[in-house]
Amino acid sequence: MRKTIFLPFFLFTTSLFSQKIIQRDPAIEQMVKEVSSDSLKSYIQQMVSYGTRSTISTQTHRKKGIGAARSYVLSKFNEFAKQSSGRLSAIIDTTTLAADGKRVDISTPLGNVMATLRGTDLADKRIFLISGHLDSRVTDVMNRTSDAPGANDDGSGVAAVIECARIMSKRSFPATIIFVAVSGEEQGLLGSGYLADKAKKKGWNIEGVLNNDIMGSNNSSETKIIDNTRLRVFSEGLPAYELEKNAAAIRNFGLENDGKSRQLARYVKEIGERYVDNLEVVMIYRNDRFLRGGDHTPFVQNGFAAVRLTEMNENFEHQHQDIRTEKGVRYGDLPEFMDFEYLRKNTAINLANLANLAKAPSPPEEVKVDVKDLSNSTYLYWKAPAAGRVKGYYILIRETTSPTWQKKIYTVDTNIKLPYSKDNYFFAVQAVSNDGNESLPIVPSVGR
Ligand SMILES: [Zn+2]
Repeated sequence: MRKTIFLPFFLFTTSLFSQKIIQRDPAIEQMVKEVSSDSLKSYIQQMVSYGTRSTISTQTHRKKGIGAARSYVLSKFNEFAKQSSGRLSAIIDTTTLAADGKRVDISTPLGNVMATLRGTDLADKRIFLISGHLDSRVTDVMNRTSDAPGANDDGSGVAAVIECARIMSKRSFPATIIFVAVSGEEQGLLGSGYLADKAKKKGWNIEGVLNNDIMGSNNSSETKIIDNTRLRVFSEGLPAYELEKNAAAIRNFGLENDGKSRQLARYVKEIGERYVDNLEVVMIYRNDRFLRGGDHTPFVQNGFAAVRLTEMNENFEHQHQDIRTEKGVRYGDLPEFMDFEYLRKNTAINLANLANLAKAPSPPEEVKVDVKDLSNSTYLYWKAPAAGRVKGYYILIRETTSPTWQKKIYTVDTNIKLPYSKDNYFFAVQAVSNDGNESLPIVPSVGR
């Protein structure tokens, strides 16, 4: 009797509380504390007040439609710009959508509301981007007038973008951060497509895109699960961009799980869980959900590292639905169905990651694994990063079947010989700042 009680308890404690050193950067810890569920709720209530934010709704009404909603987000960014010592600037980046015979019936202006927090290090060309989509919809995607509150889809993502801008604009970072509320998502990822194409054409050095879409409701329809302690991060496996060109190397070295976006997802999990309590980041090994799209996709198609952050369980009674009551069930995407404490934690995951990335040096360059001899050890070498002050480097190691990095070895050198066979493990190298902020990891290429 005693044994049956003791054994599960023992297993429970070892799995949850095996020793792990957590070192938080106090500056990031402070920023994470400033994320406020009340602020997030107020942004969402304001967005909902515009009735509909459909991309094809009125552009000119002062209090209704997508035009008014865009002006509101711009006004928030401009308010934060005042506290940024001139580093934050905001615009509505506008293009015209031609009628496409699909989800755009007449020529329509489209505007992404975008704030840029310029980095302080002129040599540092890195950009990190956080996005949500401002537009909303009801059951009929061509309905431009009915109330489409879009509190969770995607008021939650836009609120996270605004809240990160509020807190981060008071600080400075070596790298640049772009905060963007895109439009046209529900009409076919049109605003993010426009932005990703532009970023590619102009050669923006975007190292990571955190796309937030539907992240503030804690329960599922149908299965009735309630849980506000887990957040999903979706990332592609094989890259959408130039797969044919890279397929042979991916296949030869077993790198199908180590593309840029998967690497970013792994980073989001580690850093998010380092700074945010009572939240587990669950990696999903696919680009997105069945039958659904998201604004990270045009970015991965253009070769950028991009992931989607989404709540663990979705409630389809409150997505893309006309507001109504049917057989006692309330349908519609209203704030009353959200959990603002959950949204606070999910926003904090974004903030901690953006801050850690933007404070870190840029990644080490020309990271190589030596393969000229048969050996049971592994020799890695690399060059210092192009920008940022480097205290040292982390060597990351994991077994080939492990989803996450298992060991982090610190060194101040730019090479290391490890008593682990290169045949049996994956390796990567990160540059580390004086405050302990690590860059994105670089997987070594073959060197001789
Ligand atoms: Zn959405």
